[in-house]
Amino acid sequence: MSGAALTFALLDLVAVALFIIGLHYLNAPPTARFGNRLAMLGMLVALVVVLVGSLNVGWWAIAVGMVVGAFIGIVAALRVKMTAMPQMVALYNGAGGGAAALVSTVELAVARSHGGALDPVVAVSLALSATIGAVSFAGSLVAFAKLQELMTGRPVTYAGQQLVNGIVAIAVALLLAFFVARLGIAPAWVYPGLVAAALLFGVLFVLPIGGADMPVVISLLNSATGVAVAIAGFELSSTLLITGGALVGASGTILTVAMSKAMNRPLTNVLFGAFGAAGGAEPAAGAKPQNVRSVSVDDVAAMLAYASKVMIVPGYGMAVAQAQHSVKALADQLEKRDVKVLYAIHPVAGRMPGHMNVLLAESNVPYEALLDLDDANAEFSTTDVALVIGANDVTNPAARTVKSSPIYGMPILDVDRAANVVVLKRSMRSGFAGIENPLYELANCSLLFGDAKASVDALVAAVKIL
Ligand code: NDP
Repeated sequence: MSGAALTFALLDLVAVALFIIGLHYLNAPPTARFGNRLAMLGMLVALVVVLVGSLNVGWWAIAVGMVVGAFIGIVAALRVKMTAMPQMVALYNGAGGGAAALVSTVELAVARSHGGALDPVVAVSLALSATIGAVSFAGSLVAFAKLQELMTGRPVTYAGQQLVNGIVAIAVALLLAFFVARLGIAPAWVYPGLVAAALLFGVLFVLPIGGADMPVVISLLNSATGVAVAIAGFELSSTLLITGGALVGASGTILTVAMSKAMNRPLTNVLFGAFGAAGGAEPAAGAKPQNVRSVSVDDVAAMLAYASKVMIVPGYGMAVAQAQHSVKALADQLEKRDVKVLYAIHPVAGRMPGHMNVLLAESNVPYEALLDLDDANAEFSTTDVALVIGANDVTNPAARTVKSSPIYGMPILDVDRAANVVVLKRSMRSGFAGIENPLYELANCSLLFGDAKASVDALVAAVKIL
């Protein structure tokens, strides 16, 4: 191995080590930022290695691509709201899958221009990365359209759907096998046919998934993109792509399993169960709560100020209202009065994993005050006030009792077991899953209507003068 080749191989190793150590630091919120920076440094090293070490194509095309890509990335990162992160992740993820499929297409064109059959490893990896990349690309675009409300976010189902999906999946498998068996010198229509069938499968596979299952499917597609990229690494003999892709594939799979577990839904049920809809029917939304009690800011302030223990239950509405700093100010006021303040964090509260942790960390809430689902549920029976700030689905007791509910079986925060529950929301609209919440009718529950930030600011002012 020449000196230059050895240097590049060592730099590859440095980049991969930085990715892995970076991931390790993402394990805990206090070190997550550092972990992110390490991984970014790894990416920079990887980019330099690829650009300087192994590139023999036009610099101009690369430079223009990088400038345009960086511009889009920076503008998107600065402008996209935290609440729109899942869509953004879906879009980026789709771009990754599409890139893997494009790399395979270019590699095939190059191989064909040289004539002859492909090496078996290249034939398998090329067909697999094109297929998985195309499925991930098309599926991610449908997920984006659903979350961005460009189409209905609910499951799209029709009679015979599983059969149609099964037939398309078999067609993909047959075309893939044919392409590999002929080592890429199959008739010219086979490769485009394979990619088209994979794209169609991506669309059909995500259509029946909707509602609260979307985060799980995005994470699954993310891991599929990682696998496609890792396989593309075999085509290009790139250890960087193989390891980078494998890390994305593995972490996406772990996240997918963790999220399905958090919702207590087997992955097969998420993928084939059509959350809340059967045969195209509307989800079993439940009855609209009739007898709800609305309370005033002063009543809630008194309840909080004279409590011993308050559990704050944040959700998507806190993120929309950007109420996290006001929430911290309220907790500070209460703590001054010797009220114990804790935070109950549901794993799918908000619109992305860790959403609430990120927001609360931003307003300097100490990590020790954040309780996960099980620890929080152990506290509710001794809690005086559960203050639900823009959370809905994650507090819905129908998940425990109503067998026909689409969220039946999903672990929820048992806020109804607290002595008093106060819910801050703007209206009687339902949450992300589109189902009604019987919590609001319970005798110990009252609602403080209004924007979460305005309500919490008013509570801070009212507690101060008590
Ligand atoms: P929900 O979406 O169930 O409820 C949010 C509540 O916030 C609504 O009741 C809404 O009521 C209220 N709200 C919205 N804006 C405001 C505001 N400005 N001020 C006050 N209240 C407001 O949120 P949850 O966090 O309880 O549950 C998350 C849901 O999202 C789950 O179904 C989960 O599966 C899903 N999901 C989770 C992801 C994740 O990874 N965490 C990703 C994608 C989806 P109103 O309109 O009346 O104000």
